[in-house]
Amino acid sequence: MKIHLRQIPDDGLHLEGEEDRDILELPADEGARAAGPVRYSLDLGLDANGLWATGELFVDLELRCVRCLESFRFPLHVPDVALQIERPPTETVDLTPSLREDILLALPAYPHCDWSGERVCPGRLEAQEEAAPLAESDGRSDSRPPSAWATLDQLKTPANPS
Ligand SMILES: [Zn+2]
Repeated sequence: MKIHLRQIPDDGLHLEGEEDRDILELPADEGARAAGPVRYSLDLGLDANGLWATGELFVDLELRCVRCLESFRFPLHVPDVALQIERPPTETVDLTPSLREDILLALPAYPHCDWSGERVCPGRLEAQEEAAPLAESDGRSDSRPPSAWATLDQLKTPANPS
């Protein structure tokens, strides 16, 4: 995404459009794949320090759930892009590396397929079934710590980032 500095008027420039998903260069073994183009809505301007850009990025991703390992669609939204790029000796600036970095930083570290609530993660169901009989123990004198497995699961399960 090359910006010609001379095309930026004094009062700034608003840009909206799409970039090919390939700019993300997502590593294939990470379980994250772009399912569509990178869409942007940016305001650009020049000041004494160089080029600045603020705005938003959107890209539809396909991620792999850390719990059930199934792939699911995740619309990534970076609402607070804020770039400052030193004025280069050339007349063009390539924003691609900066935009890619913003998106990579916004990738969920522990993606869960039930992020939207529209789906129940099969992995989460299994965890509930394991815990259920203990909840219905109906006052049996079994004093064994009831939630040994649940506690273990909590230790193993990373905190939900949201
Ligand atoms: Zn899942």
